Amino acid sequence: MNLSDYHISELNGVGPAVSEKLSRMGIETWQDLLFHLPLRYEDRTRVLPIAGLSQGQSAQVLVKVEHSGIRFGKRRTLICRVSDSSGSMDLRFFYFSKAQQNRLQPGQWLLCFGDVTYVSGVASMVHPEMTWVKDPSRPPLSDQLTPVYPVTDGVKQPLMRKLTDQVLAKLHHDSLPELLPETIKHHFQMDDLAAALRFVHRPPRGTSLTQLIDGEHPARQRLAMEELLAFQLSMLRLRNKVVREDAWPLAAAKQLNQAMLQQLPFSLTGAQVRVIDEIEQDLKQPHPMLRLVQGDVGAGKTLVAAMAALQAIEQGFQVALMAPTEILAEQHWNNFSDWFSALDIQCGFLVSKLKAGERREMLSQIASGEAQLVVGTHALFQETVEFSKLTLVIVDEQHRFGVHQRMALKEKGRYQGRVPHQLIMTATPIPRTLAMTAYADLETSIIDELPPGRKPVQTLVLPDARREQVVARVEQACRRDKAQAYWVCTLIDESEELQAQAAEVTAEQLAVNMPELSIGLVHGRLKPFEKQAIMEGFKQGDIDLLVATTVIEVGVDVPNANLMVIENPERLGLAQLHQLRGRIGRGQRESHCVLLYQAPLSRNGQARLEIMRETNDGFKIAEKDLEIRGPGEVLGTRQTGLLQFKIADVMRDQVLLPKVQQVARELLAQQPDTAQALIARWMSGREEYGQV
Ligand code: ADP
Ligand code: MG
Repeated sequence: MNLSDYHISELNGVGPAVSEKLSRMGIETWQDLLFHLPLRYEDRTRVLPIAGLSQGQSAQVLVKVEHSGIRFGKRRTLICRVSDSSGSMDLRFFYFSKAQQNRLQPGQWLLCFGDVTYVSGVASMVHPEMTWVKDPSRPPLSDQLTPVYPVTDGVKQPLMRKLTDQVLAKLHHDSLPELLPETIKHHFQMDDLAAALRFVHRPPRGTSLTQLIDGEHPARQRLAMEELLAFQLSMLRLRNKVVREDAWPLAAAKQLNQAMLQQLPFSLTGAQVRVIDEIEQDLKQPHPMLRLVQGDVGAGKTLVAAMAALQAIEQGFQVALMAPTEILAEQHWNNFSDWFSALDIQCGFLVSKLKAGERREMLSQIASGEAQLVVGTHALFQETVEFSKLTLVIVDEQHRFGVHQRMALKEKGRYQGRVPHQLIMTATPIPRTLAMTAYADLETSIIDELPPGRKPVQTLVLPDARREQVVARVEQACRRDKAQAYWVCTLIDESEELQAQAAEVTAEQLAVNMPELSIGLVHGRLKPFEKQAIMEGFKQGDIDLLVATTVIEVGVDVPNANLMVIENPERLGLAQLHQLRGRIGRGQRESHCVLLYQAPLSRNGQARLEIMRETNDGFKIAEKDLEIRGPGEVLGTRQTGLLQFKIADVMRDQVLLPKVQQVARELLAQQPDTAQALIARWMSGREEYGQV
């Protein structure tokens, strides 16, 4: 038999309703159920002495009832005082029947499992699970750790345990084929798969919980390795599918890039030259490029994108440049219009807030091919937009877009049976191990050099109590030294509406405090032309102080601005702070950033702001962010789902990744059937990556 051939409805306890619910969790077959792994464990294999308990711990105790009684306070509570040889504690019940109360007779022995909390110094458990014990010298202890599975409404833990019991009973070597090649098993000294699964579902008494949770146990590592491999395979398969398609090969641009370089007031950095060359080679191929360009804030990615665009445009094709926010799209549009009008290239601009007439005009320019470069937001890829001959799609600040969106955009550009090349740029430096996993479908180029003359931003971390001083310093700098400053208001997880309101209030207050300054306000609720007018005013120096929400987070480039105050920085992730701070430090002058936090800071918060003070290196900051907050934060919310593994953890298991990557390549090339089986086994229910 093979476990993947049996449907879950062939288990005791699975009727149509449960079957439906399990299926929504991605569980269809017996094999799927086996790969639905416990999140954590409870230890009912031993009892702990009351005196040794600690706050918040899940624990089992063996106790004797002393006395019990009802307390009538705000809430009617049955309190039962129990003890063991080490001390006493309370069991508390808010819902109870007379019969239950009667059964808690003094002298009765109980085995209780629950979470420990301390109430006025006395340990207690609220509604513990209880077993009545006849002989306290032989309490009915479990001989395995109790697994806790991810569940949904209507599928509870006991049912999951009952179902997994049934499948585990059928688990043998021949019911679950081994898919890992011998070489890799040998390399990692792997356990046998069936044994590893059996262990993870039902760890025997004596297994160290910490070792299990830390992922150090060989059985867990073995499964983590297989899961990472399956994920890696699914990403590679996605990539292979795309790169097997046809794309227009583009010869290197000759005239346009010369003309472009001549009009720049600076020369390219070595890193820019190298990355531009890598892209040029890709674009010459008759298959689509899939390349990620990483570079720290201010490394000069825009120019690299421009050079790539020229290669397509010189051959008579169209290029689309997609940015995650309107502000950034507008800024790119301004930059590119400036650069490209000198080269006689037509640029178009498409965002969702255009007026109907403008939009119609723009759509027709895009459809006719008159617009050679089209800059916009995701509005570029809506139904009604038709390109004439799109051959290169550039996505800026990719961490805001998911894999799915990129694939949709590829289809949009399909033209005469060919798909566009894709260039993805991210300003969030991504630690290597994470990039290896999250962007396994992309080739990577890194711009690891900043343009010369950049001075690192000096960062100060100050409590809000020092606000007045900060205001005075900012005013002085703007008036006396003709500095320009950003004042960033943060509200996370709030609507744009609320963010806008908060920024408005701050702008009004600051206007009162600094009457001599010209203060601008920009937030997500403004109309595009309003935003553009304000940003232009700031760029021209008409505005001294720009109060803003985090809409200015990415890409905004006003080199003269050299001061930034960020309110409530403790609410933001490090990557986001780094992005924001990257708006300054772009010109010749010293730049200062003040992180104006709300006291008191948590220890974690302190550590995070300290990192910001210590370094300007985006890669270092991202490493720390990954350590402190996990991959979701580093990649941005959109990508969070991408890295939700059942058992693997990219941080913890990073040492496995290089080998996994190598094996994935070999396996996909040499044993595609095995690769397919691994993907099916691990990725079921995660369609985005499991299926192409
Ligand atoms: P990012 O990589 O963050 O997108 P930008 O492309 O916005 O950075 O570039 C930041 C600033 O550096 C811009 O003002 C740009 O004109 C300037 N810049 C880019 N390349 C160079 C270079 N080689 N030398 C000097 N300045 C440069
Ligand atoms: Mg940029």
